[in-house]
Amino acid sequence: MPPIVIVGSGLAGYTLLKEIRKRDSATPVMLVTADDGTFYSKPNLSNALAAGRTAATLAGASADRLAADLNATILTRTRVTAIDPAAKRLHSDGGELEYDKLILALGADPIPHGLVGAGAPEVLAVNDLADYAVFRRAIGGRQRVAVLGGGLIGCEFANDLAHAGFEVDVVHLGDWPLERLSPAEAGQRLADSLAALGVTWHFGRTTQRIEPAADGYRLALDNGQTIATDVVLSAIGLRPRTQLARAAGIPVGRGIQTNSLLETGVANVYAMGDCAEVNGLNLPYVQPLMVQARALAATLTGVPTEVAYPAMPVMVKTPAHPVAVLPPRIGAAGSWQVECGDSGVCALHLDIRGRLQGFALTGSETGRRTTLVKALAA
Ligand code: FAD
Repeated sequence: MPPIVIVGSGLAGYTLLKEIRKRDSATPVMLVTADDGTFYSKPNLSNALAAGRTAATLAGASADRLAADLNATILTRTRVTAIDPAAKRLHSDGGELEYDKLILALGADPIPHGLVGAGAPEVLAVNDLADYAVFRRAIGGRQRVAVLGGGLIGCEFANDLAHAGFEVDVVHLGDWPLERLSPAEAGQRLADSLAALGVTWHFGRTTQRIEPAADGYRLALDNGQTIATDVVLSAIGLRPRTQLARAAGIPVGRGIQTNSLLETGVANVYAMGDCAEVNGLNLPYVQPLMVQARALAATLTGVPTEVAYPAMPVMVKTPAHPVAVLPPRIGAAGSWQVECGDSGVCALHLDIRGRLQGFALTGSETGRRTTLVKALAA
């Protein structure tokens, strides 16, 4: 019988493989990946400087090691180019592959930065270990880094770089960082803490053009201001990789659409991780993919199991002023109730009856997250 085929060796693909093997040591499983299949934990990329880690020391087990340990076939540097669901076959740049069940764990791509100018091709984004190696080489011996985007990943890199002594500019379209996840008071407290570390904020601004200069680059903003910098890191967001699925006739929205069993609209094809939109929700974080992997491993080994998420707060890794957020559901009616203390902000999102729907906690207030998660679960 053809194997279960997992496409993707990120946290989603490898966590699924490990969960399958906890339940079933024998069913043939093949993992196919476009990269070299080295295991690493992606969240570590945005606080590696403070942790004193390089791309080499962030790398975990090799694909060969994991293939042996997990009794799986792992095809590295093999890009899947098309899916033929009727024939249950994949086309790849390494040839054709058959599958019994197919799991798409394809991740997400950085959103194109849209900058023009001769420096545009040199703008970096860090979305995997190989990108991180390039980034570390680029900042070696340099002093100034401009970060595009003040969302979760942009703030984490800004903190890590500023802490390591770099001069950091952050250009952000919103009026405060993390504005999609938290109210102004919470975001502003984070902004102030990063500013105290030396970060220069450019709120309500976009970048337009980047040109090489004798000493690095000149980054032009939409208000005519220019930032002199050595390295530009784009962290303006990610979008799920959906092209393969779309071309195969698999329904796609923001991500590859699935039901609670992670089944796509096409028989024997599942999706999970950053590329998936499960019951209308694309949740590009580690905890959701762990829940998905456990449920899908059960389903694939004969016990159909729906994904049931607990309340899942996200910790923003900004040691200068940590943040814990659990945003309310999109479109949830309600409002933020904000209390600002000396050492942190507690923002609760309440519905019209005063019931908790989400929260944003900063600084010392992050200690309340466990209690609030319990309150939400109740
Ligand atoms: P990926 O890790 O992107 O893996 C996708 C895989 O698919 C790759 O192996 C790729 O090579 C392969 N692939 C793609 N297309 C093909 C193809 N056509 N053929 C073959 N292979 C293919 N989340 C948190 O919860 N907490 C955090 O603190 C946190 N910090 C983060 C910091 C950074 C800098 C970033 C970028 C993300 C962070 N996240 C965090 C998000 C979290 O890391 C992701 O949700 C998670 O790693 C996604 O895993 P994935 O396996 O779905 O995708």
